[in-house]
Amino acid sequence: MRTAVSRLELLQPRSVREALRMLRDEGPLVPLAGCTDVYVGLNFGTLSAKRFIDLWPLDEMRAIRSTGGVLSIGALATYTELIRSPLVARRLPILAAAAREIGGVQIQNRGTLGGNVANGSPAGDSLPVLAVAEAMLVLSSAAETRRVPFNSFFSGYRKSVLRLDEIIAAIEVPRVDGRQWFRKVGTRAAQAISKVVLAGIRSDRPRIALGSVAPTVIRLPKTEGALASGAPIEEARRVLEGEIRPIDDLRSTAEYRRRVSANLLERFWRDTAG
Ligand SMILES: Cc1cc2nc3c(=O)[nH]c(=O)nc-3n(C[C@H](O)[C@H](O)[C@H](O)COP(=O)(O)OP(=O)(O)OC[C@H]3O[C@@H](n4cnc5c(N)ncnc54)[C@H](O)[C@@H]3O)c2cc1C
Repeated sequence: MRTAVSRLELLQPRSVREALRMLRDEGPLVPLAGCTDVYVGLNFGTLSAKRFIDLWPLDEMRAIRSTGGVLSIGALATYTELIRSPLVARRLPILAAAAREIGGVQIQNRGTLGGNVANGSPAGDSLPVLAVAEAMLVLSSAAETRRVPFNSFFSGYRKSVLRLDEIIAAIEVPRVDGRQWFRKVGTRAAQAISKVVLAGIRSDRPRIALGSVAPTVIRLPKTEGALASGAPIEEARRVLEGEIRPIDDLRSTAEYRRRVSANLLERFWRDTAG
């Protein structure tokens, strides 16, 4: 049953500082960014929270800039802003590629990168990109700002180290060397949740991440090691098939996901050769 909106409370801070104070003094509060995930929960009545804080108007959390070689993306940057950003196109084109495949135009105009991370779905399309880019998450509270490596952020299925008094303020991406590759496999091109999503970076230290094959997005250290040591792609495929433990669910079967993941690995390796 739908959640009755009249029983919900919304706090509207005018600055990030005020938002952090509210989270500390008036919490627990659920942050709202573009609301594209939250509204689904409200509509299905699966969200038990009653008190929310609206981050969407806080433009200071929207900037995309480069500082000292680090690409810094405000957590409120939308997919449309990522697609249009010359900096993202130059530094991390696979993030723009992922953004282009998320939802449709309406979702791209509202959905944010910070929301995709905080929502923590293993099918979140931006997550494998942030995993191979070895991004850092800037987490802010009234007390402190701390930086957590993206690859240490998730602690289980939709669980993370984010505290109740914290928000994701920004996502920082260090310089990425090597050829970048991204592919999402879903039922159709638009508005489909991925069955498998792979991001890769080819350099002397190959990096590979997969979404939708485990409770969280995962890096594949054994497969990366096989490729780094010059193993033929057939052997790397076998290593990958042993390294992941996908499940059967509504969207796909474990067997299909395993096979498609190996096919994507091979395609990544062929496309980025030479
Ligand atoms: C029709 C439709 C299609 C979709 N298609 C895709 C798709 O193809 N691929 C995909 O990956 N996703 C898809 N999504 C899911 C969703 O659009 C994305 O996950 C989006 O990035 C969520 O961002 P948001 O700003 O709307 O988050 P919100 O809904 O505002 O928030 C999501 C969660 O993150 C928390 N949160 C948000 N921002 C912050 C922050 N800065 N700090 C701390 N917590 C925060 C919220 O409290 C909430 O728990 C789709 C959703 C819909 C409705």
